[in-house]
Amino acid sequence: MFDIQKIRAHFPILKRSVNGKPLVYFDNAATSQTPQLVIDSIVNYYSNYNANIHRGVHTLSQEATNGYELARKKIQHHFNAKHAHEIIFTSGTTESINLVASGFAKIIKKDDEIIVSALEHHSNIVPWQMLCEKTGAVLKVIPMVQSGELDMDAYEQLLSKNTKLVFVNHVSNALGTVNPIKKIIDKAHAVGAAVLIDGAQASPHIKANMQALDVDFYTVSAHKMCGPTGVGMLFGKETWLNKLPPYQGGGEMIKDVTFEKTTYAELPHKMEAGTPNIAGGIAFGVALDYMNAIGFKNIAAYENELLQYATKQLKAINGLTIYGTSEEKTAVISFNINGIHPYDIGVIIDKLGIAVRTGHHCTQPIMSFYNIPGTVRASFAFYNTKEEIDLFISAVERAKKMLS
Ligand SMILES: *Cc1c(COP(=O)(O)O)cnc(C)c1O
Repeated sequence: MFDIQKIRAHFPILKRSVNGKPLVYFDNAATSQTPQLVIDSIVNYYSNYNANIHRGVHTLSQEATNGYELARKKIQHHFNAKHAHEIIFTSGTTESINLVASGFAKIIKKDDEIIVSALEHHSNIVPWQMLCEKTGAVLKVIPMVQSGELDMDAYEQLLSKNTKLVFVNHVSNALGTVNPIKKIIDKAHAVGAAVLIDGAQASPHIKANMQALDVDFYTVSAHKMCGPTGVGMLFGKETWLNKLPPYQGGGEMIKDVTFEKTTYAELPHKMEAGTPNIAGGIAFGVALDYMNAIGFKNIAAYENELLQYATKQLKAINGLTIYGTSEEKTAVISFNINGIHPYDIGVIIDKLGIAVRTGHHCTQPIMSFYNIPGTVRASFAFYNTKEEIDLFISAVERAKKMLS
């Protein structure tokens, strides 16, 4: 069962206070907090078996290699990838996307078309713009509608035999919209296009199944799902990863090097040049174990309760507008209050111990769509409570009074 006090006790940071008030952490869409178990795994790595992986015959190196490769298997099983070597360790979603974009520079040709969505994070727009500049390909955008959902009819109109790639996030970080990715993938495949899904915002709430989705690429950042910063993964279908050239040159990724020619290592090593974030990779695996022990169904159900509870109370505040009202959404609420700059609300409620995000959330095209400079964004995790939401609501009401 879901024992919230027991869960909260796993997170040391939740005990601290901010500006003399108990911390209310509602910035989970930017990064999640870290349970003691995950922190311990990092301390344990550096205290007991810190060594470089894959190369050494000595015991420490073997232990570190085993730990790192076990983490890869945990990630494989969590996301139901067919092969462990389809999981590439990266520094996070941004690097995962750049890896794919740079690989496609060799595949995409002039006048090919790449489709992205209006809901994308900047890290899912800029690499494709750069790819288009390099190759002469054309970038097309799936428009959004007022509810914060994608216009799926317009998407179908954009698809053609020229479409080579489609890039959409699974969940919008600014609005919480859960996109119909299975439909998006199937329609893209029907015209022969590959699909990359940015799973950074979905992975803390939804267990995505790579084989059932039949997705070509999927990206995750560990720090949004109770893991450390600086580590994440790229899932790629074996056939695609074999087709793409290596991302970086360096150690680990080669089989033989002479000055005439270098041959590349097998997957996944071909894509993993240099010494990786070993402790981080191992901790990522521990974070997945931790979340699975709580259960993703339990997490989603509880977070949805928090979302409904907070939405109802926010809606009761005069002059408050919520952006992103799609039927299916994760526990993210973006809002503004008439005539008040979101930044000012953020500053005042921080004084009351409450951490939210304000600004454009790396999604300026969404802000332009609504014709606003930014929003206040509260995003909940499974370790938050209704009591915290009550504190948050009264803080927002207080800020409103002070600012209007
Ligand atoms: C956080 C986020 C990213 C960027 O992830 P990094 O960990 O900063 O690389 C990309 N897309 C979405 C939807 C996100 O929420």
